[in-house]
Amino acid sequence: MSCSLCRGDHVHEWSLADAAVRSLLSFGEEKGFKRFIEVEILVGEIMEIDKEVFKEAFLMLSRGTILENANIIFSEEKASFRCNSCGNRWDMEKAEEIIEREVGVEEEGGEMESPLHFMPELACALMRCPKCGSRDISVESGRDLSIKRVVAE
Ligand SMILES: [Zn+2]
Repeated sequence: MSCSLCRGDHVHEWSLADAAVRSLLSFGEEKGFKRFIEVEILVGEIMEIDKEVFKEAFLMLSRGTILENANIIFSEEKASFRCNSCGNRWDMEKAEEIIEREVGVEEEGGEMESPLHFMPELACALMRCPKCGSRDISVESGRDLSIKRVVAE
């Protein structure tokens, strides 16, 4: 945990892991759990988090708590977008296509990171409905990180 640079690069994952650990601990306290055995975390596709980094952060932050040694399982929630004008729906793949077109990003041989990784909230601002062109768009799912299931004693 000495490398502050790495930590800085993954501030997204660290802050999410921190939030998850905090909410689990207060939930555990409320329920009077002695320890968590298994925790299933639902990760929205739009979050595009690095699960390995998240897990590492999670383990470190839960050290010395009732979460220590719990088995962490990730499952992914697919993203879904909806146009409020015509009711059209589309998925993440389509969304990235639309955003690339809208933003006009040209890849210059290198790898391009989706802007959504940094700001999921941008998704709506950057997109138009592929069917009717409306900008009145909602994210129906895939924007959150939540605790799906816990096993505790
Ligand atoms: Zn539409």
